[in-house]
Amino acid sequence: MLSRILIVATAIVLWASPIWAAEVEVLWLGHATVRFTSVEGKVIVVDPFLKKNPKTPAEYKDLKALGKVDLILVTHGHSDHTRDLVELASLTGAKIVGPYGYALNMISLGLIPGEKFVGMNKGGTVSPLGQGIKVHMVPAEHGSAVDYTMPGFTLEPNSLRLREGGVPVGYVVEFENGFKIYHSGDTAVFGDMALIREFYNPDLAMVCIGGHFTMDPVGAAYALKKLLKPKQVIPIHYGTYPVINRTPAELIEALGDSSIEVLEMKPGQTLAF
Ligand SMILES: [Zn+2]
Repeated sequence: MLSRILIVATAIVLWASPIWAAEVEVLWLGHATVRFTSVEGKVIVVDPFLKKNPKTPAEYKDLKALGKVDLILVTHGHSDHTRDLVELASLTGAKIVGPYGYALNMISLGLIPGEKFVGMNKGGTVSPLGQGIKVHMVPAEHGSAVDYTMPGFTLEPNSLRLREGGVPVGYVVEFENGFKIYHSGDTAVFGDMALIREFYNPDLAMVCIGGHFTMDPVGAAYALKKLLKPKQVIPIHYGTYPVINRTPAELIEALGDSSIEVLEMKPGQTLAF
């Protein structure tokens, strides 16, 4: 009897402790731009595109509204994923993780200080915020040209406006409490998404559904049901421009009787996990 009381008391203490109360916060800012706040308050921004992002709420057009940023993850060089990278990095002093070729380009052009950019490649894992948070770089099927008309860089006359930006990638971020989020970057559906599940088994997937440049709702539903199999999904990279005007409702329909929960967010909304 006493041991049963002790077990119950221990369970109550554990339940009430901060370890169990701690959550990961996800703020979606429209398109592929997301801010994660970790259990211990580390702030990670993925693909900063705010000032000219048609879906970013007005208050976040001022990059200072993001508050402190410890780390920026870049999925590829396209300007709708990197346009505010240089300014946000210099404003916050955040470290950056991105594809190695893209890192070299940005460093050699003097846009990002070398000591700030952790260049890596698919299959690698880094922990620039300490061992509590792991960042796994995973494949994506896409292109990655960098638009050098971006802020902070003046083009020489007749120079190439577009250059290769390294391989496009996605990320799985593993937080202090074990919660794992997959951010797809821009990608088509591809069979090796099954390996992302095998290796990392993400709890939450944030996947592009807009079509034209990436998976559409039918492709995303296939990826989710057959390959990634997360518990929950937040659709991203849709509705920003007319050419990618697909909807979460289409994703829900394509998922059919799947148990995967679709969390439709409004830009500027936060959810805790
Ligand atoms: Zn892209």
